[in-house]
Amino acid sequence: MSDAGAGRTMVDIKAVHKSFGTLEVLRGIDLEVRTGEVTVVLGPSGSGKSTLLRTINHLEKVDSGWISVDGSLVGYRRSGDKLYELREREVLKQRTQIGFVFQNFNLFPHLTVLENIAEAPVSALKRPRKDALDSARRLLDRVGLADKAGAYPKQLSGGQQQRVAIARALALEPKLLLFDEPTSALDPELVGEVLDVIKDLALQGTTMIVVTHEIGFAREVADTVVFMDEGRIVEQGAPGDVLDAPRHDRTKAFLSKVL
Ligand code: ADP
Ligand code: MG
Repeated sequence: MSDAGAGRTMVDIKAVHKSFGTLEVLRGIDLEVRTGEVTVVLGPSGSGKSTLLRTINHLEKVDSGWISVDGSLVGYRRSGDKLYELREREVLKQRTQIGFVFQNFNLFPHLTVLENIAEAPVSALKRPRKDALDSARRLLDRVGLADKAGAYPKQLSGGQQQRVAIARALALEPKLLLFDEPTSALDPELVGEVLDVIKDLALQGTTMIVVTHEIGFAREVADTVVFMDEGRIVEQGAPGDVLDAPRHDRTKAFLSKVL
């Protein structure tokens, strides 16, 4: 990814609502993420952060409102005044443009590290296997794990597995990377190595939305910090404003617990 187009809108979220049964989890979300920027999403457990990320690549369908990524509606196509739902194949294609890194790595246990990274480019993008493996080696080098190509996930530490998961997400050359608490499952001493990889991506102009409780990371890396509570964005702005001079009681209460 390069910073070509920096400053353009990459993600546009308008009036998004989402309920599970009677529980309204997203209660009118508006958010804009510009190309080349890092948005960090904070908020208590249950506030809807994961659901919001999942709506961005259509792992959850919104009930109302809409989301666009790089100018295309997520999950829908507009024709005249009408919206048509995309077919499964088209949704999958859209999804290849958005990388997702999960809390629990979600690597394929039966594949080596290199095969984990090369799998999607071969199966989803029909890249020649040799090219995909060559790119996978370069990506492994980029996350500092060139010597682990032949290892299986269970032979790696959690921090190493998460770095592989990041390399795997990058293999599809996504326009956008979503991280859902990428360091929450890690022992404290392994958090830094994963945050360093994410910081490095930020320096290279990668557009990212990162859900995390790592306030130091937010302060250092975020262009925008968003605080969510009970399905709403309560406060957003530059890290120095939201983290050091929060205006809402909810934000203050949350920060006093995590800082
Ligand atoms: P966060 O990531 O901020 O902790 P989530 O988006 O995971 O919050 O969840 C918000 C609320 O939605 C929680 O109450 C959660 O239990 C509920 N929820 C999330 N996913 C589902 C689902 N698939 N079905 C029912 N309830 C869900
Ligand atoms: Mg979550």
